[in-house]
Amino acid sequence: MATTELKPNLNQVSKQYSLFWKIWPEYVVLGSERRQVGFEVELIGFHSSDPSHIDPACAVCHRVQHVLLLIAAAAVEEIGHQAQDSVRHEITHDAQSVVCSPGWGNRACVAVSIHILHKHGFDQPVSQAETDFLEGLRTHLLELGLSQR
Ligand SMILES: [Zn+2]
Repeated sequence: MATTELKPNLNQVSKQYSLFWKIWPEYVVLGSERRQVGFEVELIGFHSSDPSHIDPACAVCHRVQHVLLLIAAAAVEEIGHQAQDSVRHEITHDAQSVVCSPGWGNRACVAVSIHILHKHGFDQPVSQAETDFLEGLRTHLLELGLSQR
């Protein structure tokens, strides 16, 4: 799905499910060294402010997760073709997972992650190509009206 198809509804959906995203470093441990090898961009949303709403079977949570997957796929499609060959991207999510985190205001959230990694040599330090991919993603998500936290 192209982002343009997603865009008309996105502002509304984004507010309705309080969508936001965060950047995390991806590490590998090499002996005693912890080396950053890439990035994880985590897209997060929730629909209930009840902290005890942790129901893996909740249909609305699954819907929020589906929207996040669409956003992630569209973003990667948009950025991916400009990215250098050395970058690998991967979208992951846990379909069973509704998590409650103090960092997210103690709400029950669902999340989808975009991992930005090396295509070859997974343990190489963060490259300029990965950083460029991240910047592209950041710009894209901000353009979609999703806020960074
Ligand atoms: Zn729910």
